[in-house]
Amino acid sequence: MLAVLKCGAAYLPIDPEFPEDRIKLMLEDSEAAFVITDSTFPGNPETPSSKHLAIEEVEAALKDVDPTAPRIKVSGDDLAYLLYTSGSTGKPKGVMVSHKNLLNFLLSMKDIFHTDIHTRLLAVTTVSFDIAGLEIFLPLVSGGELVLADRKVTKDSKALIDLLNVEDINIFQATPATYKLMLQEDWPSRQSLTLLCGGEALSKTIADSLLQKCGRLFNMYGPTETTIWSTVKEITTKDTFISIGTPIRNTSVYILDENHALLPPDAEGEIFIGGDGVALGYYKRSELTAERFIPNPFSDGEGDRIYKTGDLGKYLANGELVCLGRSDNQAKIRGYRIELEEIEHYLSKIAGVKDTVVKVEGADGLEPKLIAYIIPSELATLNGGEVTRNEVMHWRRELSKNLPDYMIPNGWVKMESFPLTPNKKVDRKALKYIEPREGAEAASPHLKSSRL
Ligand code: AMP
Repeated sequence: MLAVLKCGAAYLPIDPEFPEDRIKLMLEDSEAAFVITDSTFPGNPETPSSKHLAIEEVEAALKDVDPTAPRIKVSGDDLAYLLYTSGSTGKPKGVMVSHKNLLNFLLSMKDIFHTDIHTRLLAVTTVSFDIAGLEIFLPLVSGGELVLADRKVTKDSKALIDLLNVEDINIFQATPATYKLMLQEDWPSRQSLTLLCGGEALSKTIADSLLQKCGRLFNMYGPTETTIWSTVKEITTKDTFISIGTPIRNTSVYILDENHALLPPDAEGEIFIGGDGVALGYYKRSELTAERFIPNPFSDGEGDRIYKTGDLGKYLANGELVCLGRSDNQAKIRGYRIELEEIEHYLSKIAGVKDTVVKVEGADGLEPKLIAYIIPSELATLNGGEVTRNEVMHWRRELSKNLPDYMIPNGWVKMESFPLTPNKKVDRKALKYIEPREGAEAASPHLKSSRL
């Protein structure tokens, strides 16, 4: 990734665990010139526009290459990376982040966390999630040390905690979902550790537990489209509730009403973000870019734009921001950003599925679940609403051709029709999932709803 940036190219980070078709779609859409993998990568990721390079072969050829820095000028407006996020029309969209966006973010983080040559950061996030940018580049631009956890360790909370201590890590970033798992382990407290938490709402309960494990804790907020994080708040034991704090440097956050008028403190509206973190837009999606990245009505700067986040929020009288959830069908599952319409798009393409609604449901304190509500094409297969193990296996198999694991529903319900609101839209709120009884799968091959 460093080499790609250094030679003036842009990278597109791809998690090799993504389904083949999704990887292909990203490579084709981005028209990537090269796909760089190591030799353990299964299959051939080459497309008509992208040539495969195995890193081992590149390394072997390096002995004949001049080791001095390439004489290539990179400007702030040049693309640093293209990162695909879930798209509501069924196709992921590529967010274009520039060198200026990334640099402003990294220098801001360096100021806030005072990272320097003593910094030791443990990176655990998959590169396909933009927050990996903080983990990989922040220690390096600070002159500190980056410790990369391998995939096995990132999936094992006990091993992660051991590595934090063995490597004497002093700054660590994760989502609330990862922290929840780590907090179930025996985790010795260390004052020299700073914890960053972001990607999803941080609950007071998790914050309180984390404060017992570390010296400092920060809540980080921001969408991929405004470059990793846009606001930060240090959480202490004195905080009675959790805010997302204040904007990072060269960043402005506005709370606007439906007419894009500024709202006073305490009034709830939509969060719009302006400043040096605002990305260039969505690659080859000018209409969507114009819809979400709009001219900044509060700035005289030529071409200044604000990004419409879709998050609801408000300013408090003390100048801090609060995030109050979404105004649309974007959701977070285990820290992953998901447009529910993208799952619906692929589900409705499966033979036998006439219509579908996908919802996130979860009782307080429990992990949220993705539930698919399905109207079958043939009502004869409705089977009193009971879902069979074979059906679930079929739907899962079909979806996993295009969608990563975290986008596959883990609850299924068959229905004759969906409840409607008075203005004839699907009443998503009225759809309710009832958890099947423990052991119900074993007792009967037919399930009303299944956790398979
Ligand atoms: P992503 O583009 O994957 O980083 O997801 C961005 C979205 O995650 C935001 O628009 C919010 O909806 C949500 N989000 C990120 N950080 C926080 C946070 N600290 N508190 C609440 N929601 C958050």
